[in-house]
Amino acid sequence: MTERIAIVGGGAAGALVAIHLLYEHRERGALEIDLIDRDGSFGAGVAYGTEDPLHLLNVPAVRMGGISGHPEHFHEWLTDRGEEVAEEAFLPRGLYATYLRDLLARGEREAIDARVRRVHGDVTSIAVRAGAADPVLELNFADGERIEADRVVLALGPLQAGDPIPVPAELKKSCVWISDPWAEGALDEARHSRSVLIVGSGLSMVDVALSLGEEAEGPRVRAVSRHGLVPRRHRPGLTNVRRFHVPTETGTIEPMLAAFFAQVSRVCQQGDDWRDVIDSMRPATPQLWKALKLEEKERFLSEYQRFWDVHRFRMAPEVADRYDALVAAGRLETGAASIVSLESHGRGARVFLRTPGAHELDMVEVDRIVDCTGAGFDLRRQAPPILAGLLAAGRARADELGLGLDVAEDGALLDSEGLPSDRIFAVGAVRKGVEWEAIGITEIRDHAGAIARRIVRTGETEEMPLPTELRPFAAGPTKWQAA
Ligand SMILES: Cc1cc2nc3c(=O)[nH]c(=O)nc-3n(C[C@H](O)[C@H](O)[C@H](O)COP(=O)(O)OP(=O)(O)OC[C@H]3O[C@@H](n4cnc5c(N)ncnc54)[C@H](O)[C@@H]3O)c2cc1C
Repeated sequence: MTERIAIVGGGAAGALVAIHLLYEHRERGALEIDLIDRDGSFGAGVAYGTEDPLHLLNVPAVRMGGISGHPEHFHEWLTDRGEEVAEEAFLPRGLYATYLRDLLARGEREAIDARVRRVHGDVTSIAVRAGAADPVLELNFADGERIEADRVVLALGPLQAGDPIPVPAELKKSCVWISDPWAEGALDEARHSRSVLIVGSGLSMVDVALSLGEEAEGPRVRAVSRHGLVPRRHRPGLTNVRRFHVPTETGTIEPMLAAFFAQVSRVCQQGDDWRDVIDSMRPATPQLWKALKLEEKERFLSEYQRFWDVHRFRMAPEVADRYDALVAAGRLETGAASIVSLESHGRGARVFLRTPGAHELDMVEVDRIVDCTGAGFDLRRQAPPILAGLLAAGRARADELGLGLDVAEDGALLDSEGLPSDRIFAVGAVRKGVEWEAIGITEIRDHAGAIARRIVRTGETEEMPLPTELRPFAAGPTKWQAA
């Protein structure tokens, strides 16, 4: 019997689910996989769709492997191609899309009776219809098309919250307000303008600032966020990952913080620093997050997240060097400020900013404004159409913070009663509320592997052995696991 799997979202997460299904599947019956993406991006997505060589991965090559249980696989793949790069190298993100597409293509070539169909379309709803034996899932597209599947994996990427502030329609129409800096050509005009305001000060801001800074005669850039904090730089070399005890009994933040700082002080005596401790916490983060009481998670979001983010999501050293050079040259300035309002002015915009502690509003005139906020989302208040239907039908529920969907350990959606689905799964950003660490390749590859195993194997849960087509590896623990 042929099993039909629909993966909604063709970014890195969707591609990795397809890849794991292709390799997991080889012992079983036929499998038809529909990899569906509204942007027609199969294996790249927002993060790896960039061709700008200044846009680097923010994780060392040796930790970016896409196969569950094999973090070094990306580095090995490079070596296979004759590209000798250091394990700790931060490589262009576009190269990572080539890697993912190669894995997918190889999986398709090798799969015995499994195939992947790439479907370009926007899924707006998923309905469950009683079938002859099992229920059938019906995926409806914005253009009226419909396909059927036995199981669905949601790999939607981050949920889009819309503009962080009300933006006058004329600013959008004239492209002064750039809501999606990753859209093709979105920054073309901004590169040749005199002044650009970036809203947000995370890694996306850094990418945009570097792109705008490429032109010798490019714009002066000001980046603002409510806190004004900027991502820290990676240290040279690989961080040392060591397990250490973090108490969870009280379900509160402070004992965890105390353990963190105690460990920082221990590793500093050994010549390492806080980065090693942040990276050491990563495998345990979902467990720590789940142990926090709801009110503590909320407190983390309002009081600590801004500090966590700039230490956890760091700039590659080369990126940090370029960033510092732009600041030193007076081309880039960052700081704390919130936008109070903005209005159209000439061929640009006039923006009113409130800086902390100031009585007067600061008024600036700029040619372009780029939204790099990745604005917060509350699924309890608004949901994209594809999720609205599932939530209304009680087939899904929001996580307790509303950051995404409530899911079981294996990624199965929990329904309104908290019961796991055996048909619909999720991977990527929509799991952030439940696991906190859910959006990086480190987690996505393992979640993709677990979902593939859950779908094609009944009962077994052990990791996938590396298929021989993807090169044999020496037995034994990986560097990540061994550390
Ligand atoms: C700029 C940037 C750099 C990053 N760098 C790194 C890094 O170096 N290392 C790392 O580990 N992580 C990095 N990340 C984290 C990144 O989120 C993940 O690595 C990964 O790219 C997420 O992939 P995804 O498939 O979940 O999401 P996306 O890439 O957003 O893909 C989701 C896709 O689903 C499609 N889609 C959504 N809804 C529908 C629908 N209803 N119908 C059809 N299609 C739909 C979207 O159009 C999109 O193409 C980075 C993220 C960003 C934004």
